[in-house]
Amino acid sequence: MHELVIVSGIIEAVSNLARKENKKILRFTVAVGELASFDRALIEELLNEVKKGSILEDTQVDVEVEKADVLCKSCESTWGFSDLIEPLGENEKEMIHFLPELVSSFSRCPKCGGRDLEIRSGRGIRVSYVEFEE
Ligand SMILES: [Zn+2]
Repeated sequence: MHELVIVSGIIEAVSNLARKENKKILRFTVAVGELASFDRALIEELLNEVKKGSILEDTQVDVEVEKADVLCKSCESTWGFSDLIEPLGENEKEMIHFLPELVSSFSRCPKCGGRDLEIRSGRGIRVSYVEFEE
């Protein structure tokens, strides 16, 4: 299972951080990109499962959605992915849902009208916050 590999990697990385800092971690947050093809509920369930028996057993873990940003390569403006596709029709939105790269076919930069749009974030998964015990 793809998600299990990713979650195991996250737990290992955060555990290593705790060991390196020699501090207990009270809580951490995992940000899942809005365009990432992960099941967020499953990620949360697995995080809580995998940390059992590890040094993070008592650590609180939160999962949040990270918004995707789109860069216009013509004028270097950055736009929220969901704001860019908001004015589109339902059919286009559905296609973009399955193939986010299509944003550059259906949307234009609101500032310069350019179509050279590139998705810069919101496709991955990362640890966005770690709180150590003082
Ligand atoms: Zn532009």
